[in-house]
Amino acid sequence: MLDDVDLLVCGAGPVGCVLAERAARVLGWRVLVVDRRSHLGGNCHDAPHESGVLVHRYGPHYFRTRDEGLVRYLSRFTEWIPAKYEVRSLVRGTLYPFPINLTTLETFFGSKLTPESARVLLDREREKIDRPRNSEEYVLSRVGRRLYDAFYRDYTLKQWGRPAADLDPEVCGRIPVRLDRDDRYVDHPFQMMPRAGFTAMFRRMLRHRRIRVLLDQDFREIRHLILPRKATIYAGPIDEYFDHRLGRLPYRSLSFDFRAIAAERVQPCVQINFPGAGPITRSVEIKHITGQVHPMTVLSLERPGDVGEPYYPVPTSASRALYERYRTLAEHETRANRVYFCGRLAQYRYFNTDEVIQEALGCFRLLQQRFATGLDRSYSSRLQPS
Ligand SMILES: Cc1cc2nc3c(=O)[nH]c(=O)nc-3n(C[C@H](O)[C@H](O)[C@H](O)COP(=O)(O)OP(=O)(O)OC[C@H]3O[C@@H](n4cnc5c(N)ncnc54)[C@H](O)[C@@H]3O)c2cc1C
Repeated sequence: MLDDVDLLVCGAGPVGCVLAERAARVLGWRVLVVDRRSHLGGNCHDAPHESGVLVHRYGPHYFRTRDEGLVRYLSRFTEWIPAKYEVRSLVRGTLYPFPINLTTLETFFGSKLTPESARVLLDREREKIDRPRNSEEYVLSRVGRRLYDAFYRDYTLKQWGRPAADLDPEVCGRIPVRLDRDDRYVDHPFQMMPRAGFTAMFRRMLRHRRIRVLLDQDFREIRHLILPRKATIYAGPIDEYFDHRLGRLPYRSLSFDFRAIAAERVQPCVQINFPGAGPITRSVEIKHITGQVHPMTVLSLERPGDVGEPYYPVPTSASRALYERYRTLAEHETRANRVYFCGRLAQYRYFNTDEVIQEALGCFRLLQQRFATGLDRSYSSRLQPS
């Protein structure tokens, strides 16, 4: 029995690393971080492929944020390099900028456009749906059937294993449509990559004499052996914590096929989407944004599926309702046993890395308040339904 642990952390992903770092440095707590994987960084983990090329093991991670304070915080642990996240979509043999922009519209419709004439064109194309109830209706209401069929319909079906009509409007609503020539994937003011990679950044975060890390260790096997003096942070799947007693939440998984090629670069940009037939959704050449100089390159081909590691919460009304029931159990667990549920799997919500780090910092502030005031505040009760 380990009896000198103040904070027990399940998960060495962004959430676990940030909370461990804050608790050790700010509160002076002794922290034990446990992860069943053999590395740090959770899904942000990057490591050299056998060819020597640095790859993102769990899909490309494009760091971006609107929060300057967050950049300042992370800059304690890393330097940055500027990055341009450029995505193109392969539709019937032609590569189009994606998200859709003025160039996409011109190439697709075969005519020169200005922002004004593009607006008129989209007004003609779009379907009149006042309150879209799902992702299909959302896209049809913005760009109409022809663009929906070409860029969204089959890609969404492959990615999520269900039609866009079964998914919440936000799934496709996250993707902008632009009437200018901005060909960046996102428009956040801060778009950059940690100079030495994500794993190096998280390793530096955990480098502290009061933090211990136990890898290749499942939390479920040790949770009964360690009673932390202050609290537990849980960043794993919420339904798994409760032994799936209310049923399993659906997750979408991915498999990655890494292919080394003896060339400096083979794609024109970091990501190419395949919205047409075939099981692969995208091909990623991460070297475009890591800044690595190497004679080889590696492509990662992604194939989504329902079986395997849980990567994406599936945003449907049924899954949301089931999550809400788990959230009630989690709130009780926070009050009764000071277990705080934080993170993408623990809150069953599609967070990007910057957003999940903001969540972790919010969770830390609640811990601070609670242990400063003795108030029994529940972190998860603050959360709105996803
Ligand atoms: C394919 C893909 C692409 C993405 N692309 C981007 C992007 O471009 N930009 C961006 O900002 N974000 C991106 N993200 C999101 C980003 O990965 C997450 O926001 C972030 O990793 C969430 O951090 P977390 O700590 O909540 O969870 P995770 O990173 O999932 O870490 C959780 C950790 O907990 C461990 N764990 C779970 N259960 C147990 C257990 N029982 N015992 C021990 N350990 C356990 C897991 O092994 C894992 O290491 C992407 C995610 C995916 C899946």
